[in-house]
Amino acid sequence: MKVIQKPGDKIVRPGKNNYILIIFDSCRYDSFMAAKPKTMKKLGKIEKRWSYASWTAPSHYNLLTGLLPHSSPSNVFASDYYKRDFLKYSERLGAEGIEFKSLIPKLYFPSFLKDSLGYRTHAKVSLPVLNPKTILNNGFDTYKLMEHHNDMRAMVREMKFSDDQPSFYLFNVGETHYPYALIDEPPEDWPRISGVHGVFKHLDDQVVGGKLKGKVEKFFDETKMEMLRQRQIRAVKHLDKVVEEMFDIVPKNTWITITADHGECFGEGGYFGHGPIHHDKVFEVPFVEGLLR
Ligand SMILES: [Zn+2]
Repeated sequence: MKVIQKPGDKIVRPGKNNYILIIFDSCRYDSFMAAKPKTMKKLGKIEKRWSYASWTAPSHYNLLTGLLPHSSPSNVFASDYYKRDFLKYSERLGAEGIEFKSLIPKLYFPSFLKDSLGYRTHAKVSLPVLNPKTILNNGFDTYKLMEHHNDMRAMVREMKFSDDQPSFYLFNVGETHYPYALIDEPPEDWPRISGVHGVFKHLDDQVVGGKLKGKVEKFFDETKMEMLRQRQIRAVKHLDKVVEEMFDIVPKNTWITITADHGECFGEGGYFGHGPIHHDKVFEVPFVEGLLR
């Protein structure tokens, strides 16, 4: 049984940890909490944080600069917040002396891990908007768009760790993205909603979201919105089991951060989805992390 080291605990092992950054795409904070995840909460306190962006591509770019969703502290200069935020990487990676200036000039975390700290770096992504031809694929030894958009278990099963080098994994997990479908759910059973159906095929090829008016107003049927919200909650419950399987597979001394790239609106303010939407629910994300050792 692995012991969980929580943020703030003293680093007990010199050297470098494996690091897994798991992004539940579109998973908003209250969906995560409503799912009452048993395994993921073992990592540490589940925080409500805010994403820097409202949709997948800019949010992942920001995450890969090393800036995870923020805690929005008041009376603090942004530069001081960034400085403090980067110092946490010493704890996450078990490597002393990491600070914001360590990433200068490229300011790209996978390249820093690979070139400066000797990590093997891997990305496994679910959303086509993050495909391997995008500019995000920089500093990775492997970068894969998964066969299915909703199969975190396949990512876990493909993980490989080496005794010689620490590993970094980025997982972009799609079960929590519209249509919140689990891998064993036949596509013909997925929800079909007028107005969104058209962009569904390519998921985030186009931004899902926007304020809908007029003809598609019936789209905002409260029952459907609640059904969709419940599907996202169900996806988190499912992912909690997949994370439990992952805990059993990963080596000791692996730091895991679980968060989201942005949230989602389920009818609040007349919005559905995320992207070109300015609403609190699009920025509220869960954040939990800790070390398996
Ligand atoms: Zn996203």
